[in-house]
Amino acid sequence: MNALAPLPTLANGVGQCGAREIVQERGQREVFCGLTGIVWLHRKIQDAFFLVVGSRTCAHLIQSAAGVMIFAEPRFATAILEDRDLAGIADIDDELDAVVDRLLARRPEIKLLFLVGSCPSEVIKIDLSRAAARQSRVHAPRVRVLSYSGSGIETTFTQGEDACLAALVPTLPQEASNAPHSLLVVGALADVVEDQFARLFDALGIAPVRFLPMRRAADLPAIGPNASFLLAQPFLGDTAHALQERGARRIEAPFPLGAEGTTLWLRAAADAFGVTQERFDAVTAPARARAEQALTHYRATLAGKRIFLFPDSQLEPALARFLAREAAMEIVEIGTPYLHRRHMASELELLPQDAPIVEGQHVENQLDRCRAARPDLVLCGLGLANPLEAEGFTTKWSIELLFSPIQGYDQAGDLAELFARPLNRRARLEV
Ligand code: SF4
Repeated sequence: MNALAPLPTLANGVGQCGAREIVQERGQREVFCGLTGIVWLHRKIQDAFFLVVGSRTCAHLIQSAAGVMIFAEPRFATAILEDRDLAGIADIDDELDAVVDRLLARRPEIKLLFLVGSCPSEVIKIDLSRAAARQSRVHAPRVRVLSYSGSGIETTFTQGEDACLAALVPTLPQEASNAPHSLLVVGALADVVEDQFARLFDALGIAPVRFLPMRRAADLPAIGPNASFLLAQPFLGDTAHALQERGARRIEAPFPLGAEGTTLWLRAAADAFGVTQERFDAVTAPARARAEQALTHYRATLAGKRIFLFPDSQLEPALARFLAREAAMEIVEIGTPYLHRRHMASELELLPQDAPIVEGQHVENQLDRCRAARPDLVLCGLGLANPLEAEGFTTKWSIELLFSPIQGYDQAGDLAELFARPLNRRARLEV
């Protein structure tokens, strides 16, 4: 197992994480920007609207990623910065206020408006936090206006969600000093997954349980020292920090991918709330058995196959752990745009010790290593997938793992299937 292709010596540096060696690379990156998060966030918070303050490029990105809805009014748009704005001739504050006034007059169902910064708005230094505070004063109490940056200058695509949720944290109500111990699950999950977890926590006797992001703007979860939070996504470093600043305590756990990951994630919450092992086993055993049964089906396709994970979403270490331990795949390299050492500590312990982890990106060097290793499957962003397919590699788009429900017991088989499908498709083409 994991008799790895040799990892060429990397010029950029090697760090330690516990006993684990992490290679750091710096160079050209191939990742989407944080605006991409709007695609799943606008579906999640059902009365929120995301107004990108950006260029036509930003508008194209978000429209093509989210799809143009013909019959429904979308809950995102772009206020396009024109040449006059970029040249400093127009009064951007006035123009933005007018756009927001028109939007909110036309769409009374909007209760929460995010002004989303972009590369152009950052380059010309538009102060969106000041604009949001000003517009909040005008439109309160009907609408709350917040801001965050989705700019691609320094961020990768999942960091848009982190920035969005971190912007929400200061608006969460303070819990009462005598509030019971509560659980906050943090990170956007498909509604079906959220409902499954809510039922499991209820059966375990863990209550109250709330989710961030919430489905409705008015349902802000209260937070404070009696709240514990459990990250459902690994890319929420700023949000976790903001919650800890409010006194909440993070529950250390791997992420709920696969039967094992879901069990360990739920078990960590159960331990924090004093649930007995007997009750935990009784509640989780049926769903865990279903998940393991579903995985058996896909293991026949995946076992022994070699996978190279390019850095894209920060999900890569958790996915590699799932693929190695539950699908018996061989990990050639785990790339991740950023590795949060503390939040990933449990994942790192579970990863095969000989699976190289590379943080950051030098895309040319990484492509060279991938070509030399000739993996059976490559997980990568859209920009790399087509060229690699043209070279004969089988690829999986990493962004699909954000758009698909993959967390929890009942999705473990679906998660494995996302990796089995391109291998099966390639096998059919080769017949
Ligand atoms: S925010 Fe930056 S990277 Fe993203 S679409 Fe706009 S210009 Fe491009």
